[in-house]
Amino acid sequence: MNVQHILAQKGRKIEIASPDLPIAQAILHLASKRIGALIVMDCAGALAGIISERDIVRALVAGAHALEDRVRDHMTELVVTCTPDTSVSDVMDLMTRGRFRHVPVIDGGELVGLVSIGDIVKHRLAEIESEKSAIIAYIAAG
Ligand code: AMP
Repeated sequence: MNVQHILAQKGRKIEIASPDLPIAQAILHLASKRIGALIVMDCAGALAGIISERDIVRALVAGAHALEDRVRDHMTELVVTCTPDTSVSDVMDLMTRGRFRHVPVIDGGELVGLVSIGDIVKHRLAEIESEKSAIIAYIAAG
């Protein structure tokens, strides 16, 4: 199974932030969409970074004044991405080794989706359930 199977189920909607967006606005965006990260795109539409709730928590440790900082001040610029053809197990490996929970999906230089650890867990659970049903059917058939 690969990433395109996950995107086919969850859709390709991506929540985007500008590097100049104030952190306070980024928090509102994350909360209203009930998500954990925003992809940061520059004014030319190029991937500029990713900002997650962890970056924001770290920023706020310095004080509430961080709410007035910009997304660019706290985002991660070097973003690890995958393609629709990347296998689900390779994405799990990227997340485990990189210690992050979000991976943007790039196809032909274009951002086409985002896979989160929640999507991966959901996909794996469905896979395990279907394997279990197949084994039970096989045993029952005797
Ligand atoms: P997360 O676990 O996704 O909330 O992110 C933990 C940290 O990794 C934060 O500093 C994020 O900015 C960063 N991060 C999240 N996703 C990626 C990614 N795909 N590539 C590089 N860094 C990332």
